Amino acid sequence: MTTGSEPAERPRQRVLPAPTWESEAFWKGGFDGQLLIHSCRRCGRFFHPPAAACWRCRSTDVGPRPASGLAVVAAVSVNEHQWHPGFEPPYAVAIVELDDEPDVRLTTNIVGCAPGDVRIGMSVTVCFEDWDDVSIPVFRPLEEGRR
Ligand SMILES: [Zn+2]
Repeated sequence: MTTGSEPAERPRQRVLPAPTWESEAFWKGGFDGQLLIHSCRRCGRFFHPPAAACWRCRSTDVGPRPASGLAVVAAVSVNEHQWHPGFEPPYAVAIVELDDEPDVRLTTNIVGCAPGDVRIGMSVTVCFEDWDDVSIPVFRPLEEGRR
C-alpha cells in the first residue's frame, strides 16, 4: 500500500522524464496513487532503476510492484539557485532509502516543509506531482506516529 494520498503542490514547470518501456510504471504509477518499483519474482527483492533483469540474481522474471511509499532521507542538499525559470528555489533535493528495500534509493524532492528543515534520517512518505504524461514521486515528512 502506498500511503501518500494527497497530491503534491507542484512547481510551475519542471524538466520532465521521458519514460521508457522499463520505467513507464515508475513514472505513471502515481496517477493511481502507487509507487511502483521493479521487483524480482525469483529473489523477491525490489531494485531500482527499473531494468530488464534483476542485478542480484540475473532473473528476467521482473516487473513493477507497489512499494509502501515509506522511506528515510539518506542525503539532502538545498538548492538556492534558479536553474530553471519555472522551478523556484529554494528546494530540497534528496536521496531517500525505501523502507521496503533500504538499498533502493531514489533521487527526489522533499516537499511539505521548509527545505532547510529536511534532515538525514527523517522519515518521509511518498506523494505525487501529476503532470500530463508522468506523475513524479516526491516525498514529504511523515507525521509523528504514522510509521
Ligand atoms: Zn532477483
